Amino acid sequence: MTVEPLLSLSHLSRSFGAGQAVVDDLSLDLAAGEILALIGPSGCGKTTTLRMVAGFETPDRGQIRLAGRDVTGIAPEKRGIGMVFQDYALFPHMTVAQNVLFGAADRAPATAARYLEMVGLAGYGARFPDELSGGQQQRVALARSFAAAPAVILLDEPFSNLDAGLRARTRREIRALLKASGIGILFVTHDQEEALSFADRVAVMKDGRLLQCGPAAEVYDRPSDPFVAGFLGRTNLITGEARGESCDTVLGPIALERPASGPIGFSLRPERIAIREAGADEPARGRVSSVEFKGHDLTYWVDCNGTEIQVDQMGGPRLSEGAEVVLSVTGRVAAFG
Ligand code: ATP
Repeated sequence: MTVEPLLSLSHLSRSFGAGQAVVDDLSLDLAAGEILALIGPSGCGKTTTLRMVAGFETPDRGQIRLAGRDVTGIAPEKRGIGMVFQDYALFPHMTVAQNVLFGAADRAPATAARYLEMVGLAGYGARFPDELSGGQQQRVALARSFAAAPAVILLDEPFSNLDAGLRARTRREIRALLKASGIGILFVTHDQEEALSFADRVAVMKDGRLLQCGPAAEVYDRPSDPFVAGFLGRTNLITGEARGESCDTVLGPIALERPASGPIGFSLRPERIAIREAGADEPARGRVSSVEFKGHDLTYWVDCNGTEIQVDQMGGPRLSEGAEVVLSVTGRVAAFG
């Protein structure tokens, strides 16, 4: 027996005017209690996708199902979907507690207090939105969406107004909260690190199309193509000649996850490469062309026969510019495609 996902988008498309589709045949599933991040370059169709799920935008083609029900043509307020968009949309004439209880089934003051405590705003219930900072307003909007207990919440840049420290803490707390609630979350962010750390799965879009969707670590370690690899963080795009379980590259032979033959390409993250100075009678693979000190780690730029390779090093003896080095790769790599 197959279990129907909580939210299912199938073959969604949307164009504006005669232009090219801004969302093009997009299919995605979200399970109960799952957090899915939608990421991609500006203009790739993330917000349009959220707006179609919310019901503010009608797809030209495709279907949106929530808990087994087709909601494609249903009005936003009848979908059972909560949302927190960038403008928070708090009611200015209502107190924070009244805002939190707005869509809640249980409107007891203790309920507002409980949700405000969850988002770190205990004691703020009697204030009005204009007496709060942008980050606090954002947390009230989150508390309001949780209190309404929808099956799915859509979040558009939910932590964008928080400073770095508060952002990381709020993210951790909200993640724990959501995981305990069973609510499914579809969220859009411009922050790749946030997508990887907050989401269970990430979906990478480009030009309206879904390029890859999978567990965060899977997409980071095994990107389907060079675009996804580069979009999710610094990497080396390596090409080489596969010979069964190994591939010949400028770094030397590298073990492959799956046997292949002929020319291939893959992503090799800087932290997966180990670097050391070449021994006296050992052939060097490259030469350190520059060193970037970043406090907790170092990045070396290594010239390997004309190809520049980035290598991150957490500790160990520091190498200087000009050092002749040997590089090695831990584990096996996955070829694109
Ligand atoms: P960003 O990361 O910059 O927020 P996004 O991935 O969320 O971008 P969308 O807001 O979904 O992208 O927009 C996708 C494309 O659709 C853009 O080129 C945008 O200009 C266009 N678009 C969005 N809404 C409309 C509209 N109502 N009318 C015409 N074009 C629109």
